[in-house]
Order: sequence, then structure tokens, then C-alpha cells
Amino acid sequence: MTGDEMTWKVREISEQNPFLCMQCGLCSASCTVRGVMDLLPRQVMRLIQLGNDKVLENRSIWMCTTCLTCTARCPRGIDIARVMEALRAINLRKGQDILAPEDISGELLAEIPQMALTSGFRKLSA
Ligand code: SF4
Ligand code: SF4
Repeated sequence: MTGDEMTWKVREISEQNPFLCMQCGLCSASCTVRGVMDLLPRQVMRLIQLGNDKVLENRSIWMCTTCLTCTARCPRGIDIARVMEALRAINLRKGQDILAPEDISGELLAEIPQMALTSGFRKLSA
């Protein structure tokens, strides 16, 4: 997939227009997990606009909790959480597992709540 195809795919899956983004940075300032992101939401949006498929490899798309704060505050009405979801979907459709069952230790399995496991696999497994 070329960078341009990636941009159009994001647009198709998310039903959002990334080219409406004016790079104001309000989403980055509002993001509840910005401290653990390697690229802030504004930067994610810019890479999509530029058709730079490096955006698919960044950690931020997996760290996004879909809290919707950025979506609620974007002055251009972009649902950024859906854009993040689209980026995850593109990766997962390639069969890429971020969380694989064999990588979870027995000790962790004994401790972790079942709901956390279920939601983790739904979000992070192909
Ligand atoms: S808040 Fe909206 S317009 Fe501003 S940088 Fe984020 S996505 Fe772009
Ligand atoms: S939806 Fe994701 S990107 Fe937006 S503020 Fe919440 S964690 Fe950050």
C-alpha cells in the first residue's frame, strides 16, 4: 500500500476528512495519554495528510484509549478517535498482532481481569 492509498484508506474507514485538519494542536493538548505517545494526535494527522505511511508504525495509535476528548474539542469537527481506529484497523487487517496470547505470562494471566483480557484482544489482535 502506498502512502496515498493509506491516506484514502483512513478516510474510507473512518469516514473523516484528514485534510480538514489545520494543525491547531488542540487535540494534542487535550489528549489524556499524550505522556506515553511517541507522536501526538496533531502529528498523526499531519503524517496522514502527507501520505507518510510511517504513521502506521507509531505507538500512539495503540496507546489511544478512544476517550474522545480530542474528538469533542477539534474545532474542525474531526473525529480523531475514529482516525486512530482506522489506523489500527489497517494494521490488524494485515494480520499484525500487537498482543499475542503466547506473549502473556502465566502469572499475569492469573492476575489480570478477564474483561481486560477480552478488551485487550479485541483492540490489539488481528
Ligand atoms: S484539533 Fe482538529 S484541527 Fe486541531 S490539530 Fe487536532 S485534528 Fe487538527
Ligand atoms: S481519543 Fe485517543 S487521541 Fe484522542 S484524546 Fe483520547 S486517547 Fe488521545
